[in-house]
Amino acid sequence: MSIRVTNISKSYGAQKALDQVSFEVKQGEIVGFLGPNGAGKSTMMKILTTYIHPDHGTALVNGFDIDKQAIDVKKSVGYLPEHNPLYLEMYVREYLLFTTRVYNIPKSKIEEVIELTGLTPEAHKKINQLSKGYRQRVGLACALVHDPQVLILDEPTTGLDPNQLVEIRELITTIGKKKTVFLSTHIMQEVEAMCNRVLIINNGTIVADQYLHDLIDKEDQIIIVEFDYRIEEAFLQKLPYASHVKNTHGFVYEITFTTSTDMRPKVFDFAHDNTLKILQLARKNKNLESLFRELTSPPLS
Ligand code: ADP
Repeated sequence: MSIRVTNISKSYGAQKALDQVSFEVKQGEIVGFLGPNGAGKSTMMKILTTYIHPDHGTALVNGFDIDKQAIDVKKSVGYLPEHNPLYLEMYVREYLLFTTRVYNIPKSKIEEVIELTGLTPEAHKKINQLSKGYRQRVGLACALVHDPQVLILDEPTTGLDPNQLVEIRELITTIGKKKTVFLSTHIMQEVEAMCNRVLIINNGTIVADQYLHDLIDKEDQIIIVEFDYRIEEAFLQKLPYASHVKNTHGFVYEITFTTSTDMRPKVFDFAHDNTLKILQLARKNKNLESLFRELTSPPLS
């Protein structure tokens, strides 16, 4: 087991941030820690990385106790904090050298992580000359330089533009093939793009713990498709298994299918056969979205 959390509670004064939280993360999993802002995600991550202490409860990271074996926990964990604090005046290699010295590890690791995180073309620059996407890569390189077994990433994709977002997601997925990854986000799509399991937290309490493959609706699926001009909804309704078609905005349509077979190739063929142009095509996981809304929306008064 890479992470085992047992009954952790933490308050800041009168504000309860975590309330008897328990969960486990197995070796090799990429687990999304999903919850609205203020749910307690960062607090949990700071506890797991030994930056703050819980009021009650225990946690083991890579088999080490966060209270009694904090140094071993730190050695086992690579942490990318929410706002990725970097020394902007330093050069990339200089900053990584500084990090290797802190961890007392050979500097030969630096070139390895530069390559692994795709930093090579920008590695000669000062950090303040880098885009937000490359700054995140520097943060990830720092988190990886001591070759930890577990990576804890607090909102790793926040503030990235769409291209950077895709690149960082791909990088995290690649890293996740070799390491256990526990990442927080308030964006459901991030979980769908990177994780095999999701823990949903709301008001300091775990409200769901699900494998993504269990969440994929066995009966229904929604395909979002954008064409380059307007099409009659009734026309799209001719697609096999299409039960509902909705023009959500512009030329974007949401088509519900009553089958578990991936209908994206069929939509593509349909467009091609009818000389329609597709600008975007995506399958939406209906269940994760509805589960997240249901479990984290404030009750209607
Ligand atoms: P998340 O990461 O999910 O946005 P946090 O763990 O940052 O949530 O915060 C959980 C709750 O604890 C929030 O209500 C937040 O305002 C509060 N909180 C977090 N850090 C502090 C702090 N240092 N002092 C007081 N309250 C805090």
